Amino acid sequence: MTNRIIEFLRDRREKGLDDGPCVVVDLDVVRDNYATFAQALPDTRVFYAVKANPDAQVLKLLAGLGSCFDTASVVEIQQALAAGATPDRISFGNTIKKERDIARAYELGIRLYAVDCEAEVEKIARAAPGSRVFCRILCNGEGAEWPLSRKFGCVPEMAGRVLEHAHRLGLIAYGLSFHVGSQQRNPRMWDAALRSSADIFRDLAERGIHLQMVNLGGGFPTKYLKDVPAVKAYGQAIFKSLRKHFGNRIPETIIEPGRGMVGNAGVIEAEVVLISKKADDDAVKWVYLDIGKFNGLAETMDEMIRYPIRTEFDGDELAPCVLAGPTCDSVDVLYEKEPYLLPVSLEIGSKVLIEGTGAYTTTYSAVEFNGFPPLKSYVI
Ligand SMILES: *Cc1c(COP(=O)(O)O)cnc(C)c1O
Repeated sequence: MTNRIIEFLRDRREKGLDDGPCVVVDLDVVRDNYATFAQALPDTRVFYAVKANPDAQVLKLLAGLGSCFDTASVVEIQQALAAGATPDRISFGNTIKKERDIARAYELGIRLYAVDCEAEVEKIARAAPGSRVFCRILCNGEGAEWPLSRKFGCVPEMAGRVLEHAHRLGLIAYGLSFHVGSQQRNPRMWDAALRSSADIFRDLAERGIHLQMVNLGGGFPTKYLKDVPAVKAYGQAIFKSLRKHFGNRIPETIIEPGRGMVGNAGVIEAEVVLISKKADDDAVKWVYLDIGKFNGLAETMDEMIRYPIRTEFDGDELAPCVLAGPTCDSVDVLYEKEPYLLPVSLEIGSKVLIEGTGAYTTTYSAVEFNGFPPLKSYVI
């Protein structure tokens, strides 16, 4: 929470514009985050994961600071280009791409692609000849609050074969990638993947294929309710593992922070629509907000991400509440298994501030489920 955000929200209220939930993102925080990554991992290039927050001003700021961009679709590539990034600073990092989208990306100048199987390599060899490819290896997502396991990557034993296939088809077998799981709270979780990566580098070198790059993925956390280690601790742990597994031959590295770049830059202001009980003797109250799973808070799915919530009654006595969204869908409940402690004095009509909401909120907002518009976003 920054003073600029507090002032912006006060001004919005005074002008009577506060008629629905909104997220406010402070670019100064994004700028600081970029500097922190650059400092903690000085020899590593930053590829911001556009999906975390593709706002044009966020992308423009990062492009100006020298960031590269990890994209997952032609639209994201166009957004990065529009922000001022040249094609050589953009990767097409989704392992699941239509061949015609690869062709479109190639036309736009993109020459760096992710793969995790031979069929995807063949698409790239046809639609983006001569490009660089990196193969994603599986990570189990242990230690992450938002694991990305299984869907992406192949087992390390297969990666060599995938890259050899790429080499044979005239592509540049450029390197490896992995993602240790989003909101990864343990900086040591990069170690096992780096050990596998070094094994694959050696194995392929024996077959005359010299990989150059390791893509360390995202996973850098945002502080929600629980504390998280500083980015510096991640930089140190990663560098130690690189030294341990690659010795004096440390490859080129890149990171793809999404959440860690923008999460703490954003605050959502929402409103209490209703407070009620289901029975007179219920210990737990239901608090319904005008924001829920369908208009910005999708990451509360399975109660995985627990956002800090501030109210004007902070400091008062707290009571356990079930927190729910406004729509007529019963899955639109944010926290129930583990009720959320909120001040007893909270009232219908009170504003609440949901912190750490700069990442994965606007992009996860439905078009207009139940007539509720997508989350409004202001970047200041
Ligand atoms: C989503 C994604 C990221 C960003 O992950 P965070 O945990 O938000 O940092 C990075 N790389 C790839 C390939 C992704 O899909």
